[in-house]
Amino acid sequence: MVTPGSGPAPGSRVLLGEIVHFSGDPGDDPQSAAIQHWSDGALWIERGRVRACGARADVLGALQSDPAAAATTIDDQRGRLILPGLIDCHLHYAQVGIMASWGRQLLEWLQNYTFPAELACAAADEAERRAAFVLERLLAHGTTTASVFATVHPHSVDAFMRQADRLGLRMLCGKVMMDRNCPPGLRDSVATNRHEIPRLIADWHGRGRLRYTLTPRFVPTSTPQQLELAGEWYAAVPDLHVQSHLCENAAEIDWVRTLHPQAADYFALYQAAGLAGPRTIYGHCLHLTPRERAALRDTGSAVAFCPTSNLFLGSGVLDAVSLLDEGIAVGLATDIGGGSSLSLIRTLAAAYQHSQLVGRPLAPMRAWYLATLGGARALELQAMVGSFQPGCEGDCVVLDWTAIPELDWRVDQAVTLAERMFALAMLGDERCVHATYIEGNRVGALRVHA
Ligand SMILES: [Zn+2]
Repeated sequence: MVTPGSGPAPGSRVLLGEIVHFSGDPGDDPQSAAIQHWSDGALWIERGRVRACGARADVLGALQSDPAAAATTIDDQRGRLILPGLIDCHLHYAQVGIMASWGRQLLEWLQNYTFPAELACAAADEAERRAAFVLERLLAHGTTTASVFATVHPHSVDAFMRQADRLGLRMLCGKVMMDRNCPPGLRDSVATNRHEIPRLIADWHGRGRLRYTLTPRFVPTSTPQQLELAGEWYAAVPDLHVQSHLCENAAEIDWVRTLHPQAADYFALYQAAGLAGPRTIYGHCLHLTPRERAALRDTGSAVAFCPTSNLFLGSGVLDAVSLLDEGIAVGLATDIGGGSSLSLIRTLAAAYQHSQLVGRPLAPMRAWYLATLGGARALELQAMVGSFQPGCEGDCVVLDWTAIPELDWRVDQAVTLAERMFALAMLGDERCVHATYIEGNRVGALRVHA
């Protein structure tokens, strides 16, 4: 069983091993000062928070002169790589069972797979079962924070949040809002939203490490009145997050234009509803107009880069490097179930392939920034997760270079850190995940569901 969410361990733990984290976006520079690297490092986590991170000799020296020393567990992970817990900026937990379903593009996909999968979560025990499975698998993949779409059913949020809270996880989740162009069984309304969503916010927003996320699916399935209601809550309730979809697919954009012929563009409709700004993140963003790109940057709204899903659904190719260079916050995302893996390591490989197709190859260290601090910044959680800055929450993943023979062989040939990290992104997957830690507590045998 996974350690129950009993809060941070009262004691302290020091992990020994090779450590990489970021203090900023390293860009294309493999020597960037934003790359924090110790080949013989130590990470000291005390009462769930990072106390210190650095060279092993320095951290152990500081530990020895501290009263906490006697109660500290030393966890020797030397030979392995310690990274901040990975951050998945966009996924739909109820869709886990439709991964790898054949056929067609976004709008048919929604009708044929997504809506039936979400309708099945009308049964509360089915929502519980899927939430448990996805949480278990996220931890097995080294993902410790995610921005998660539930379904339209309020109990689907309860199911996910209750279990994430028990595990002590830093998670974002919200009830999908859809009041038009969807099956009757998945349709809510401004009237039902007005009593269901304040209840969910009251129960989960700020409880433990959880935050509530306002989650209109996208413009075609929300009336302007529903989007405006979400915008009112976003403006009124501190630290609420917003997640949705934007410019994923050509037919979707045509549909938005038909529904709203007067609008300047797709993102203008979210802006008009007050849904642009810090803590808002939009999935895909593949076919943005120059105005939309400028508006995302100027409002501080973020982009969830979903490379496996973009390829799987034939939606398009994102030039993420150009978005980053323009100053737009970008995080990495699996977009389960349109995506084809829950692994952010596999997702990095797809991200690199996307970037090659647009002639702006994603640099190796910048890729790992996206999976850690970049994701935290896109979700405005960088003060809590995404790096090993002192005071951050002690979530981390320990990766084993030798777990996959081809990777082990390749790393043997590599000279620089960037070469090794690139090989890990291209050849690695969850087999490399040796251990995952939540606030300094090692997640045990990864079975949380019956
Ligand atoms: Zn999505």
